[in-house]
Amino acid sequence: MATHNILKVAPNDNVGIVTNLNGLKKGSKTEDGILLREDIPMGFKIALEHMEQGKEIIRYGEVIGLAKEPIDKGRLVHFGKMIIPEPPRLESIPLQDRRLSKPEPLKGYFFDGYKNKDGSVGTRNILGISTSVQCVAGLAEHVANKIKAELLDQFSNVDDVVAITHSYGCGVAIDAPAAIIPIRTIRNIANNPNFGGEVMVLGLGCEKLRPERLLTNDQKEDSGSHIMYMQDERFQRFEDMVKGAMEMAKNYLKKLNERKREPCPVSDLVVGMQCGGSDAFSGITGNPVAGFVSDLIVRAGGSVLFSEVTEVRDAIHLLVSRAIDKKVGQALINEMQWYDAYLLQGNSDRSANPTPGNKMGGISNIVEKALGSIAKSGTSPIVDVIPPGEKLRKRGLSFAATPASDFICGTLQVAAGMNMHLFITGRGTPYGLSMVPVVKISSNSKLSRRWHDLIDFDAGPIALGEKTIEEMGWDLFHLILDIASGKKQVACDRLGLCNDLVLFNPGPIT
Ligand code: CA
Repeated sequence: MATHNILKVAPNDNVGIVTNLNGLKKGSKTEDGILLREDIPMGFKIALEHMEQGKEIIRYGEVIGLAKEPIDKGRLVHFGKMIIPEPPRLESIPLQDRRLSKPEPLKGYFFDGYKNKDGSVGTRNILGISTSVQCVAGLAEHVANKIKAELLDQFSNVDDVVAITHSYGCGVAIDAPAAIIPIRTIRNIANNPNFGGEVMVLGLGCEKLRPERLLTNDQKEDSGSHIMYMQDERFQRFEDMVKGAMEMAKNYLKKLNERKREPCPVSDLVVGMQCGGSDAFSGITGNPVAGFVSDLIVRAGGSVLFSEVTEVRDAIHLLVSRAIDKKVGQALINEMQWYDAYLLQGNSDRSANPTPGNKMGGISNIVEKALGSIAKSGTSPIVDVIPPGEKLRKRGLSFAATPASDFICGTLQVAAGMNMHLFITGRGTPYGLSMVPVVKISSNSKLSRRWHDLIDFDAGPIALGEKTIEEMGWDLFHLILDIASGKKQVACDRLGLCNDLVLFNPGPIT
């Protein structure tokens, strides 16, 4: 009888993952001679030993739960059979200043990007039409569509026009302390490297968020050329407003059109990492491959952002020990504390994550999800913690504090200045962004076979033992350079799929 491989991550794990794409039937045998006592679907866990009630269930070398009842060797281990352990106590995580060994530099890799005046580099050359308030979203979309239809052909170096619309700007407590998060997010999105430093803002006129607040100090000196108000009395009708916005846009298009791609070192990449619709494979295929790439980018002097507070909270003890000094370690803990309080305010806690789909993909609880999730941060030291909506401050690996919500995390990473997005999924999501290429990585081959036109990279062969993390990591690294250079297009750009930007607004609405 054929025996089957069960994937274990750490030597002391007492559960393993079924990697067969069709799952395993009752009566099958593992390579270690364990007899399956019931059918076990792909991605689900099997008990590798007999567990008494209260026994620690170990995956990734960490406790992911306590057995709620005795579990026989060869049985399925799922969320219904385990009690979730307490999260790491934030007060008792040791902080230290450490001398972390510098990784071996990686040299000689380049991509063709658009250099910006502020030193950042775009992977695309896009006109962004920013908005100060939701009221003008319709005009912004109308103008963006009209430019695409009537003007864009004349500006062959400009890739696209994007209306940066959102739900903020009025009807909010604009002076509440938390309002700074959505405000700086909108400002920093307009200054994302892929918009080339050309900021055009459409405002209404009476909104609480004054459009000037969306400009940098340099831009404020010439605010008249950056802002157009719909309520400006020179406009008699909608058509005049459209004409005004088109004229303004033309100036920006001319400037953007003068830009050309030129060779840039990998140190100019800012790669945002995110998971969405994860499954039990994410932590052993897609996320570790992304983590391998993260280490390559950091070694080359580039920047990597990882995020999703609720998906690192239960693994925070493993991250604080990677902080470059006590200050960064404390900043990580502070972001966790803030989020614990935020969830508590809503009568909730970390168990609000995972989703039903995560569970159907074999992830039992948030502890297991977090341990798989942090794999995409690789092994580099954490050099900085960026509060939500702030811009990247240092090269290397930074934690950008964001919710795990795909749309909000992506929006905040755009604000932080990412010019490349890696998105790992096991269940499958059509997630995309209009201003930054999103490379979608499937954690299992079952998904990439079904969604062959929606997935850019299949990390599934790792689970099947056909390829190593290192081999696939280099493949992904080269793919990223081609995408950053505009030589290859990601699936969601090819299909024209993109999600709305969604702001994180913990402040009050009026
Ligand atoms: Ca997410």
